[in-house]
Amino acid sequence: MRETDIAIIGGGPAGLSAAVYAASLRAKITLIDDGLELGGQLIKQTHKFFGSEAQFAGIRGIEIAKKLIQEIEKYKNIELITNATVTGYYEDEVITIVQGIDGKIFKKLKAKRIIIATGASENMLPFVNNDLPGVYGAGAVQTLMNLYGVVPGNNVLMIGAGNIGLIVSYQLLQAGIKVAAIVEALPRIGGYLVHASKIRRLGVPIYTSHTLKEVYGTDCVEKAVISEINQNFEFIPGTEKELEVDTICLAVGLSPLSDLLWQAGCQMKYIPELGGYVALRDENMKTTKDNIYIAGDVAGIEEASSAMLEGQIAGLNAAVSLGLKCANYPEQNRKLKEELKELRANPLSKKVKVGIKKVLIKGEGD
Ligand SMILES: Cc1cc2nc3c(=O)[nH]c(=O)nc-3n(C[C@H](O)[C@H](O)[C@H](O)COP(=O)(O)OP(=O)(O)OC[C@H]3O[C@@H](n4cnc5c(N)ncnc54)[C@H](O)[C@@H]3O)c2cc1C
Repeated sequence: MRETDIAIIGGGPAGLSAAVYAASLRAKITLIDDGLELGGQLIKQTHKFFGSEAQFAGIRGIEIAKKLIQEIEKYKNIELITNATVTGYYEDEVITIVQGIDGKIFKKLKAKRIIIATGASENMLPFVNNDLPGVYGAGAVQTLMNLYGVVPGNNVLMIGAGNIGLIVSYQLLQAGIKVAAIVEALPRIGGYLVHASKIRRLGVPIYTSHTLKEVYGTDCVEKAVISEINQNFEFIPGTEKELEVDTICLAVGLSPLSDLLWQAGCQMKYIPELGGYVALRDENMKTTKDNIYIAGDVAGIEEASSAMLEGQIAGLNAAVSLGLKCANYPEQNRKLKEELKELRANPLSKKVKVGIKKVLIKGEGD
């Protein structure tokens, strides 16, 4: 049985930021991530980030990951376990880890505090033939193209005109792949209009109030049928269009990857504004279990910039709760929360703020 002060599950922007903050206060950290490389979503994001300047806006996601990893490497008190999945949380506060592609290495770890920063999983859509080869999530398309240099197909239909759908469409076009159309169920484009305009200028139509009805193909995707929908999201007969595509890319939202929080017995609540079931937490990112903290998309689908700030808050507070000294703790904690508040002052964060109000519980000192 291994032992550590703080186990951090997930090495994306939230987990990496939590590790740096807690390690700077001399906590012994074990950071576990299932990827071959650290960085979470960042390592496939070749575009320049939006968001706050203090949280690397204007820098490419892959560069942000490199900066965070360089910070991690400065600390000898951070143990890294990569290519390893945390598979369970047990009542004696032990977590189990399965490592390696063949899953032959099994480890048990007991931690005084745990920060869960597992991120999110992609949402699927119900439509006829949604299990045909050629149907991908947008994250998978990004991983194939931007990490491994493999194109997913030659002619893509993108479902979803939020920022992810728009950015991945642009990256497909940059890779020389045809994007036949972008389809959006809502009556308006959800992502930034600057991204949408760039794509429209390249000749890609964006159909709002439309959805994917059916996909045809024998061994893989060969054709898609899209249809206009009414306010109740019902197909409008006679509005169908057929598109000759070989790839369907789904960018229809993310859901917090909260399985470990359920297992740990944290109090959970369904919050549509945050993407699904999330754990109740106080302003220090502590859940209803005294030893468990959360940060990033698992706490509510948002952005890398807020994930990093939440990670810093969770890392700082988990370390201080162990009795580790932080000379200016109240001031630092207040500053981080203030930065997060400023970040969310953006009108696009209105929905997230509504969601957070519903899950915020009173913590010590509130
Ligand atoms: C196409 C796209 C564009 C985006 N653009 C921007 C942008 O411009 N600006 C911005 O601020 N944000 C952007 N985002 C959002 C941003 O990437 C996410 O909000 C951010 O990565 C969330 O960070 P995280 O650390 O919570 O999760 P993640 O980055 O998802 O990291 C979680 C990590 O935990 C690992 N993990 C999960 N479960 C386990 C387990 N059981 N055991 C071990 N490891 C586990 C995962 O594999 C992953 O490595 C974008 C997202 C996408 C998909």
